[in-house]
Amino acid sequence: MGFADFGGFMRLRHLAMALSNLPPHPQHDVSLEQYATEGDFAARWVAEIVERGDLNGQTRVVDLGAGNGILGIGCHLAGAATTLLIEKDKHCQHDYEGVEWLIGDVKEWDGNDVDLVIMNPPWGAQISMADRPFLETAFNSDAKVIYLLHSDKATHIQPLAKSLNWDGEIALSGAFKLPALYEHHRSREGVTKVTVWRFIRN
Ligand code: SAH
Repeated sequence: MGFADFGGFMRLRHLAMALSNLPPHPQHDVSLEQYATEGDFAARWVAEIVERGDLNGQTRVVDLGAGNGILGIGCHLAGAATTLLIEKDKHCQHDYEGVEWLIGDVKEWDGNDVDLVIMNPPWGAQISMADRPFLETAFNSDAKVIYLLHSDKATHIQPLAKSLNWDGEIALSGAFKLPALYEHHRSREGVTKVTVWRFIRN
């Protein structure tokens, strides 16, 4: 989609630069499965959300497993009304005007006061089912729409969503470079394919 203007808020290139310049995710805790999203991909994702009409000046956004906040801050820069970043690892937190942090477990969030949940949670590759609390929290929240990034190999997401009355479609596909910490998960090409899902209530 090039440098198209979206929503009149910020050009894609500027958004990608702003997000690439955030303090990097410390990525020091293997057990928390910290696969950080890159600025360019985060910007494309946010642009896609805006183009689909899921994000405007009224939208309250919650980013689950926020890391350095790249996804939530992307939504904030695209004009979200409020942005809450939820992250267990306190080393990820940094001051950023206009967004709030909840440093704690995803399960501590009550699921209220939200229109859009965005997340790139742990995929459950290091600790089996580590993604479940994220999926359950999001699907049981008050959100109208949920965006979720996961490994393209995951097969459990759609059945779980369906059982909780959410319909999913693929919004974006991409490739992730995993940090050296996760070397053993790399494919031959050195990247892992990812899918961004968009869920709405059925
Ligand atoms: N959303 C960021 C980070 C993705 S990595 C990005 O896309 O770059 C997943 C994040 O979830 C990590 O920062 C990890 O510390 C956090 N996390 C893992 N388990 C968690 C839990 N139970 N509650 C809250 N955050 C958790």
